[in-house]
Amino acid sequence: MTGNSAHLLNSKDIRSSGLETHDLNGHGLNASRIGLGTWAIGGWMWGGTDEAESIRTIQGAPDKGVNLIDTAPVYGFGRSEEIVGKAVAEAKMRDQVVLATKCALEWDDKGGVQRNASKKRVLKEADDSLKRLRTDVIDLLQVHWPDPVVDVRETAEAMAELKEAGKIRAVGVSNFSPEQMDAFQEVVAIDVAQNPYNLFERDIDHDVLPWAEKHDTRLLAYGALCRGLLSGRMHASREFPGDDLRNNDPKFAQPRFNQYLAAVDALEAFAQKHYDKHVLDLAIRWLLDQYDHAFALWGARTPDQLDAVANVPGWHLNGAARAEIKAIVDQHVTDPVGPEFMAPPSRKD
Ligand code: NAP
Repeated sequence: MTGNSAHLLNSKDIRSSGLETHDLNGHGLNASRIGLGTWAIGGWMWGGTDEAESIRTIQGAPDKGVNLIDTAPVYGFGRSEEIVGKAVAEAKMRDQVVLATKCALEWDDKGGVQRNASKKRVLKEADDSLKRLRTDVIDLLQVHWPDPVVDVRETAEAMAELKEAGKIRAVGVSNFSPEQMDAFQEVVAIDVAQNPYNLFERDIDHDVLPWAEKHDTRLLAYGALCRGLLSGRMHASREFPGDDLRNNDPKFAQPRFNQYLAAVDALEAFAQKHYDKHVLDLAIRWLLDQYDHAFALWGARTPDQLDAVANVPGWHLNGAARAEIKAIVDQHVTDPVGPEFMAPPSRKD
């Protein structure tokens, strides 16, 4: 097993891509501002996975300027982490990537998932992740969801212990409220908050983003493409095989689906007219320009899905453009809905 000592991004490919990089923890843990999200690569809730294609996607990411890889134990119940670990080890690229994973969700053999952020669980999961990822240090470990039956401070103690032991480099929380983050920070500093954020899901504008700004906390914005809606390739007759979560996503159910698709068409026209870009490029640029410490997590499972990373650097959206983008979304999406359907149950439920 190997760790990554000299923090990277001395990699020629990443520098030459032009994509911005940023310090993930304030202590030199540099990462590309686009991260490869590997939930779909785990297969579960995305209609299955193709391991060879997934490995090519991961191994090809640094060439496109993307060195941050976000995974989680629950993605395919270990499968996503295993595929990431295999891809990184086989290509001997551990010193070229920043590995982010999570903890605090447990699953049973029937596929039931629930929250468990107890100290015991967090410590065990970190060791399991180290094995699956075939590394001796996790660059960023994030508490996946707050657990209402465990004191946030107990979870934070486990994270502090892992950092002290050198098993993790940076501490993150995901889907936490500002109040929960305040309590967590009584024990250990939060380097990263991971929350849903994209052109269609902007709840954190009112709470988590101001909190992150106040504390200089990095934001990993998940669902950057709103589960493919903002890719520009989505259409009303698209079918989602097997257990694909979009079969239960209220944004993909009519009549709302058409509202979102109309907004995407209007955003595509706006991007082409003003920037000679596409809606996907606009969606990612918008995220990065919202907050200097933001990173966009972009889920991809084939190498070509990351080709458009090349369209993100070198231009920016000013305040007037952002206001116009908001007006376009508000005009078309008259019945918006958030990503709440994804929240896993707690042991209390
Ligand atoms: P996403 O990034 O919004 O969308 C990913 C989907 O968009 C892909 O699976 C693909 O779907 C489609 N896509 C991507 N690039 C495309 C391209 N160039 N052209 C056409 N379609 C394209 O969704 P996400 O994967 O849910 O979110 C990103 C990452 O955030 C996850 O992988 C995970 O790492 C993280 N996340 C974290 C949490 C949390 O609770 N902390 C929750 C959700 C996600 P198809 O291949 O099916 O078309």
